Parts: sequence; C-alpha cells; structure tokens
Amino acid sequence: MDQNILKSKLETALKVGKPAIFFGEVATYIPELRNVNKDDLGISVYTKDGVCCSVGDCDVRFTMQSISKIISLAVALEECGFKRVFSKVGMEPSGEAFNSLVELDLNSNRPFNPMINSGALTIASLLIPKFTFEEMLEYARILCMDPDIDMNEAVYKSEMDHVSRNRAIAYLLESKGIIESDVEESLSFYTKMCSLNVTAKSLANFGLILACDGRHPETGEQLLQNEVVRVIKTIMLTCGMYDGSGEFAVHVGIPTKSGVGGGLMSVVDNRMGIGIYSPSLDPKGNCIAGRPILEYLSQEFHLHMFDHQDEKE
Ligand code: GLU
Repeated sequence: MDQNILKSKLETALKVGKPAIFFGEVATYIPELRNVNKDDLGISVYTKDGVCCSVGDCDVRFTMQSISKIISLAVALEECGFKRVFSKVGMEPSGEAFNSLVELDLNSNRPFNPMINSGALTIASLLIPKFTFEEMLEYARILCMDPDIDMNEAVYKSEMDHVSRNRAIAYLLESKGIIESDVEESLSFYTKMCSLNVTAKSLANFGLILACDGRHPETGEQLLQNEVVRVIKTIMLTCGMYDGSGEFAVHVGIPTKSGVGGGLMSVVDNRMGIGIYSPSLDPKGNCIAGRPILEYLSQEFHLHMFDHQDEKE
C-alpha cells in the first residue's frame, strides 16, 4: 500500500465523516464521558506491509469502553478454553441494546454473546480468579502495542458512581448461577477494563494483530492463538456494533467493535487494522462518523470481506 495514496484517502475520509458528527451526541450516562471534545475526529491505519498512517485527532486519549470486551474475551478463550467460556455465554446477536437485560431475564439462561454488557460481565467473572487487573492492563499494552495505556481513574469512578444498571445485570447473572465469582469484584474489574485509555493508533495496532491472526506484525511473535482470533473476528462481525451489526456488515463488511467512548476498531483480514476516534455517537451507541468513514474506505480499497479477491491490491 502506497503511503501517499493512503494519506490522501484518509484526508478525504475525514471530510466524509465530519458532517455526521453534528447529528450525534456524546455519551452522558457516564457523566465523566461528557468531558470530551465532541468534534474530535481521528483515523489511523496500520497495514500488514508496514505502512502506518494517521490523520486528525489520532493521539487523543479516550476510554476504550466496550472495545475492551475483545481483550477480555481473547484472554478468557486463551486461558479458560472455548468450552468453559461458551458454556457461560452464547455467540448469537441479541438484537437488543448493549445494556439490555430483558432477553437475559425472559428468554435465556446465559447472555447472548460476549459483546453485550451481560456477556462481558460474565467473562469478567471468569477472569477474576485467574488475573489481577494489572495483568490485564499488561495484556492491553501488548495487544495494542502501546506501553502508555493506563486506567482513566476519573472515568472509572464516574461509571462506578452510576453503575446501577450493570449492577442489576450482574446480580441477575448471579441469580441464574451464571456468575460464580464475587459480583462486586466482577463489576469493578469489568468497569476498570472499560476505563483503559487508548488512542486511534492503539486501536489500529490491535486491529492489525487480529488481521495477522494473532501475530505481532513486527516481531512475528504469536500473541494469540489462531483459533481464538478467528472466533473474535467472527463475533466482531456479527455482534461488534450491537443492534446495528447486521446493517453495518452489509454496508461496510469489515469486522468492527465500537465503544461508547467514541472508539472503533476494525480488522481487515490479512491486510490492515483501522482505529477511529470520534465521541459523537448514534442512538445505538456507535461512533456516528465511523460508518460513513469506513464505508468510504471499504469502497475505495475494496475492503468489504465479500469484495472480489481479484479486485484487491
Ligand atoms: N462501560 C460501558 C457500559 O458498561 C461500556 C458500554 C459500551 O462501550 O458500549 O455501559
């Protein structure tokens, strides 16, 4: 991939995404998330052939929020195994909002998937007997190739002060025998993971590791097993954009995970990682500028997973 062509396409992508920002809102149900610049927009790409290119506000730190669910799932699959993880949480899109507990209460004895809050709280409960938060932080730094990732104390505290809904979900999970670890510890662990401070660049790095089937693109070290990464990418495609996942998959065709902090991490298999930051969200909680930006890049570079192979560079 030519660096100059990529740069100019990313500059255009910024212009394509910018107008959407006006129509979204920053998340306020975690009060501290208000304290961001709604107009920030950054895009970062890191390709398998070693080209890194970033435009706009790609060094601004923001909290990972739900994108951290990918790290937790990866570590859980590596360390607890597929059987244990998927005995506790399913792999079906829920069709409901990320913080819904209705379908869990009425229709199911386990959360639909690990990308909604009920699923991620369950994964947290599997991790706490095995890992400290500091160890998970180290995983995050390695997988994002970003040694500066830290926990945003203010966002963590703010979310813990307004955590009633997730607490209700966690106790419902305990009542169904799904969470077996301490509920409050699971809740706090999950919230700390959501409060990790990243940049669009860190997300592009993580995306590239997933695009390379878990291998570090520079050292070649196998950081995650192939099979783990395959599961993660599939779940990102089917559940990564919450109840907007189907439409996003049709129009963009790139496995992507969003977070209410405004981040998006996309994985173009075997080709590149893309990180986007823009805290203005659509009503489903997905970064509103992300869709037009990724749709544009998908068209320009034939990134849709079902685009014809022979048209790819
Ligand atoms: N910490 C957020 C919550 O649990 C994460 C949600 C998200 O990013 O979608 O509500």
